[in-house]
Amino acid sequence: MALLSEPIDSLVEKVKRGAVSAEELTRASLAAIDAGAALGAFLNVAHEQALAAARRVDEKRANGEPLGALAGIPVAVKDALATVDLPTTAASKILLRKLGTSLDPADGYRSPYDATVVARLRDADAIIVGKTNMDEFAMGSSNENSAFFPAKNPRDPSRTPGGSSGGSAVAVAAGMTPLAIGSDTGGSIRQPASLTGVVGVKPTYGRVSRFGLFAFASSLDQVGVFSHDVAGSARALAVIAGHDPRDATSSKAPMPMLEDLGDLRGLRVGVVRELMQEGVEPGVKAAVLASLAKLEAAGATLVDLSLPNARLAVASYYVIATAEASSNLARYDGVRFGLREHERGAPLADLYKKTRGKGFGTEVKRRILLGTFVLSAGYYDAYYVRAQRARALIRRDFDAAFAIADVVVSPTSPTVAWKLCERNEDPLAMYLADICTLPASLAGLPALSLPCGVAEPKGGGPALPVGLQLMAPHDAEASLFGVARAVEAALRA
Ligand code: GLN
Repeated sequence: MALLSEPIDSLVEKVKRGAVSAEELTRASLAAIDAGAALGAFLNVAHEQALAAARRVDEKRANGEPLGALAGIPVAVKDALATVDLPTTAASKILLRKLGTSLDPADGYRSPYDATVVARLRDADAIIVGKTNMDEFAMGSSNENSAFFPAKNPRDPSRTPGGSSGGSAVAVAAGMTPLAIGSDTGGSIRQPASLTGVVGVKPTYGRVSRFGLFAFASSLDQVGVFSHDVAGSARALAVIAGHDPRDATSSKAPMPMLEDLGDLRGLRVGVVRELMQEGVEPGVKAAVLASLAKLEAAGATLVDLSLPNARLAVASYYVIATAEASSNLARYDGVRFGLREHERGAPLADLYKKTRGKGFGTEVKRRILLGTFVLSAGYYDAYYVRAQRARALIRRDFDAAFAIADVVVSPTSPTVAWKLCERNEDPLAMYLADICTLPASLAGLPALSLPCGVAEPKGGGPALPVGLQLMAPHDAEASLFGVARAVEAALRA
């Protein structure tokens, strides 16, 4: 197995033992990133900074100092998280200091501080190797809304890796880093994990600090992780999770340790009826059903259950998320961050119009308009309030589901990876790609995607990864990981 695709647990153990140095791992990672540049996974790579950090970890070990939980692990960080030593762009032109004939992510905004997640990774001796490509401000499901270039799926570069955290998924799937950080507002970690064949985790809302995460929809945004196996994700989440006085929404609940379930005997696995029906590609459905049969053979009990209001998830999400985005993105006004398009003596409103007009891409503008509309005095009750009601109903559906099941499952994505450009002209088709991931987002639940097989794409071609989504009650990450690990073992058996 290629070094960087080994389980994180064993890599950390090797670094601690001295069987491999942090510098070796970092060099291997930087070489893989450079070799795979055509996949468009990274916007900025931290060649020197990463090697310097790796040498510091190796020195620590040489001096007999204790090493952190992610000692020497190269990690790719979504470009929506602030870093002091690298520019941050959120894949938007509005965070560039200038717009030249060609756009350069190296001209991105320089943050005076690290996001809390980034600081915690560094404290755990992880090595930040670069910032990953994404849909602009995390709005999208295919990475094609990046202002720079799309990321490509390593399984088939003519296809999307999913989004919005596409670059982070590619970094892990292509063996460039064993660990990557993403953010998930409506599925942006789980869906690209599914489309590229890796594990992706969205924790409980509030589990991880959002300080230093460029906000999209504050009641939904959550930072999470990608890795090859469940144990690696559990280890990384334990590092980044936990209360942060700088994020008032971050939870004070202690991060429970990964529960070792051993096997699946007695586990009630609820299968969401509505998410196994229309719209789910036959190949995806077959792969999910085959893996459910394996779980049953391993002792789990399958429970057929309904989330009757899941059908409202796409509509309510695209009202709530756009409303919050329209407010959050008001801060990009040409005054404080990044781009400033202004002619001397022109009125202030001109600065706003020009900067925002040139700086934001089409999808972001569409969402700001939609969000401003649904919040406007005349339409607030008709759209925003009704969307919030639907959100409450979805939450209640999950309460009922968890009364009869320990974990709830569905496909992560209704389709395998589609061709780049295929859905670009049809925002609605793109929004419908989120049908399976949105319910857990609206309910604030922890959820993860686990590779569960492959399926042929519509129209034929080589088989592509399918992801199984596991959802658990609030704060139940420990049992979610426990179940996921047992499921992972059952699927590999
Ligand atoms: N695809 C969804 C959207 O476009 C989710 C994005 C996300 O989770 N950041 O909003």
